[in-house]
Amino acid sequence: MAVFELVFLGTGAADWPLRPGADVRYDVNGVIRRTSSLLINGKYLIDPAPESWFFAKKVLKLDLSGLKGIFLTHSHKDHFTNKALDSFLGEAKGKVGFYCHEGTIPWLKLTQEEQERMNIHPLKIGKRVKAGDMTILPLGANHEVSRTQETALHYIFSREGKSFFYGCDGAWFLAQTWSVLQKQKLDVMILEATVGNMRANYRIASHNTLPMVELLVASIEECGILKEDGRVVLSHMARELHSPEEEYGNMIAAYDGMKLEI
Ligand SMILES: [Zn+2]
Ligand SMILES: [Zn+2]
Repeated sequence: MAVFELVFLGTGAADWPLRPGADVRYDVNGVIRRTSSLLINGKYLIDPAPESWFFAKKVLKLDLSGLKGIFLTHSHKDHFTNKALDSFLGEAKGKVGFYCHEGTIPWLKLTQEEQERMNIHPLKIGKRVKAGDMTILPLGANHEVSRTQETALHYIFSREGKSFFYGCDGAWFLAQTWSVLQKQKLDVMILEATVGNMRANYRIASHNTLPMVELLVASIEECGILKEDGRVVLSHMARELHSPEEEYGNMIAAYDGMKLEI
């Protein structure tokens, strides 16, 4: 059995419709992308994105009753809504761990009921936490969340000798994050590729273009951050900035419903 079984509940950026029309709502063939969200081993969620619960429950028909924890990257509305959070909390049998940057909590406007259903774990950058038999290292992301005092997070999840990185959202790595990454041996890196194959774009301080990803991956390989058989997966892709002819080389372009075993 795989150490990590990942299910991509959404792989799109914020310009995908938050409420797709009924005809595409059940799509699993890559016609649409929901905004980005990931389920780990059926027990841990990264980001209660607007469509993530509907897709997991009604389309993929996953059993979410074993939900143990929710990790939040940041509070942008394509990654967090109270409605999606409530839906996931409604699935869980017991209290659910909720992990986010310590500066994020006041901005989530959590209700009394939500707080009673969760154990909240404020995270500090670079300070590992445990969840079940996983170790999680939160790292700072280069991503502006301008109305709040939070720092958006990347995560490294480790269990039984396997590790993967989740970096949605964030552009070029912060220097401090890059220093930590250089000490890692990762099996999988999930990188955001919001912007398509263009050299110039105003989003480059908060999001990656494909040429930026290619440069990053070259240095990731040069520095041995990925294991020899390590894989790079692209997610958080914008609807209006990618073309069907794009090529991704050895990288895997994630799609909604994609399963990945590590
Ligand atoms: Zn986003
Ligand atoms: Zn964002």
